Amino acid sequence: MDDSLYFTEQHIAVRDMVREFARTEGAPIAAKFDADGKFAWATVQRMADRGLLGIPWPEARGGAELDLLSYMIVLNEMAKVDASHAITISAHTTLGTSPIFRFGTEEQKRKFVPPLATGRVLGGFGLTEPSAGSDAASTKTRAVRKNGHYVLNGSKIFITHAGVGEIFVITAVTDPSAGTNGISSFILTKEAVDVDKTSASGMGHDPSLTPMRGFRAGKKENKLGWRASDTRALFLEDVEVPVENRLGEEGKGFVNFMKTLDSGRIGLAALSLGLAEGAFEASLRYASLRKQFGRAIADFQGVQFQLADMSAEIEAGKHLMFHAAWLAQHNQPFTKEAAIAKLYCSELAMRATTKAVQIHGGYGYTREYPVERMMRDAKICEIGEGTSEVQRMVIARHILHELAD
Ligand SMILES: Cc1cc2nc3c(=O)[nH]c(=O)nc-3n(C[C@H](O)[C@H](O)[C@H](O)COP(=O)(O)OP(=O)(O)OC[C@H]3O[C@@H](n4cnc5c(N)ncnc54)[C@H](O)[C@@H]3O)c2cc1C
Repeated sequence: MDDSLYFTEQHIAVRDMVREFARTEGAPIAAKFDADGKFAWATVQRMADRGLLGIPWPEARGGAELDLLSYMIVLNEMAKVDASHAITISAHTTLGTSPIFRFGTEEQKRKFVPPLATGRVLGGFGLTEPSAGSDAASTKTRAVRKNGHYVLNGSKIFITHAGVGEIFVITAVTDPSAGTNGISSFILTKEAVDVDKTSASGMGHDPSLTPMRGFRAGKKENKLGWRASDTRALFLEDVEVPVENRLGEEGKGFVNFMKTLDSGRIGLAALSLGLAEGAFEASLRYASLRKQFGRAIADFQGVQFQLADMSAEIEAGKHLMFHAAWLAQHNQPFTKEAAIAKLYCSELAMRATTKAVQIHGGYGYTREYPVERMMRDAKICEIGEGTSEVQRMVIARHILHELAD
């Protein structure tokens, strides 16, 4: 796809800025932070300095006031070199900040959006529970209203930024007899783990936010991929949440979180596509340099066909992802298109990165080349923000409704 056909000058400027940042700041450290499984505070701080943690929010709220396409371009470019940095932007922006921006009161937006949009602190989204994954409506975390507070008890698992973040949107059941209409959402605050280290990086902690007693993060998950992204459980024990921290009306938490996931899926499609493109570019380079049987392996039709398939599928994925983003940006319905883009691009990321390892041969299986990390990073794209099976369920529901109509 010739980007200049669809992008404005501003999109191209954003793309070039992030591409340069990813090349000079992300690429050199990606392998080390992946191997160590550490959160890259220093580069995340530099992303915040460039406005990358508040891309779509108005300047008046501390954001960069760019459009949704720009945001997708950023995720896509970062993921070409490192998916962990890309998911940090995505989980913080779409999952952690957007529900407050979209569904919050003026007071909630005034208080919580600026520290998130400027990157002073990181945010997260707590939906998944030990027994509520794909079936997110099975939420067990309970919120009981008492003396001007809600008292929350329960736990969430696999929450991105659970350790490093300070502001979270969380679902909890307010009316167990009302099914999904009995689920509400709340804004909770806690202190980042390792506050000393966090503060030393110049970001991550805001002393003006009051940590809520009984709200804490568990130990860091030791993951296959996205290893420089922070994933942990969150525990809630008699957490007193002021009524003014309820996000949206009582009973609207589930439906609002589903809307948030619709947008999140376009972001995950952009990230997945970035992984596929990064793996493709590395493979193209390697295949033209690596010689066997006296010639570059790129001369062999068997290798050319793999590169051709990667290239064709990446083109298809770009159209699906930017189409879904365009619909969302123009306030058109986009749930089905977001699910299609997420399904196709995440499965493409897995196929393309696996092919990339194959093209690199034995070297591809070592940490000397980035493609093995890309293959590990791609797998979670088929799981997070709704598995591939869940995307197929969403798509099937839409096409069957369209048929009935
Ligand atoms: C690194 C990472 C980061 C994450 N970040 C967050 C986050 O920030 N916030 C958050 O809330 N969650 C987060 N998650 C959780 C993630 O969204 C869930 O793991 C995901 O939705 C799947 O839920 P589960 O793990 O319980 O799997 P399950 O729902 O138990 O699924 C297991 C398998 O069964 C299949 N399956 C389930 N139901 C059906 C069905 N009806 N038909 C066909 N197949 C089905 C699934 O597709 C899957 O293959 C994260 C997870 C990871 C690993």
